[in-house]
Amino acid sequence: MAETIFSKIIRKEIPANVVHEDEHCLAFHDVSPQAPTHVLVIPKKPIVNVEDIAPEDAELVGHLWLTIQKVARQLGLAEDGYRVVVNCGKNGGQSVDHLHYHILGGRALSWPPG
Ligand code: AMP
Repeated sequence: MAETIFSKIIRKEIPANVVHEDEHCLAFHDVSPQAPTHVLVIPKKPIVNVEDIAPEDAELVGHLWLTIQKVARQLGLAEDGYRVVVNCGKNGGQSVDHLHYHILGGRALSWPPG
């Protein structure tokens, strides 16, 4: 997998506003927030996107979802709700080729997306 800005964040080569870290994943505030709270959850394992998830990643993917839940609660989003977005590939609007889950909250979000 090609080097990305998120690999550099994982290795602490560039700074990020980290809200959660464990041996499998990292969560940090998006540099260009699209909602009052906008956090990214990423695996430390280099996975490009949803299409690159393998059967042996099932436990890791479960861990990422439980981390999303934990971070959303930690940031006070759970009561009013929030959105989790995963962009995949060109038509999905993915701009960083390292799997990431957007957690968006703090306001009512419209639907459908553009
Ligand atoms: P996507 O368009 O789904 O690939 O999302 C990539 C996200 O990464 C965007 O929301 C960017 O604002 C965010 N992003 C890019 N570089 C950084 C960075 N250095 N720190 C935090 N977020 C970043």
